[in-house]
Amino acid sequence: MAVAVAVRPAHLAAAGHVADEAVSAYIDGALPADEALAVAEHLRGCVPCAAVVQAHRRVGVQVRSLAVQPVPPAVLQAARRLPWQ
Ligand SMILES: [Zn+2]
Repeated sequence: MAVAVAVRPAHLAAAGHVADEAVSAYIDGALPADEALAVAEHLRGCVPCAAVVQAHRRVGVQVRSLAVQPVPPAVLQAARRLPWQ
């Protein structure tokens, strides 16, 4: 007797929503075209997933806006004295 097994698309989590890893990859443009299209289609009809994507994008904008601070020379000197092996 054959048993039908539903195959879940790679971009979907078990709950049927976009998986966290797929959200990041989608935002980064790192998904294969067919998966990106499927995620975009899911986002058009799923308010919770669209909100997650929007939140990830907002965090990304905030992180990129943070100023990079130089490492103080004393910290660099101390780091060079640490045994790395
Ligand atoms: Zn969803």
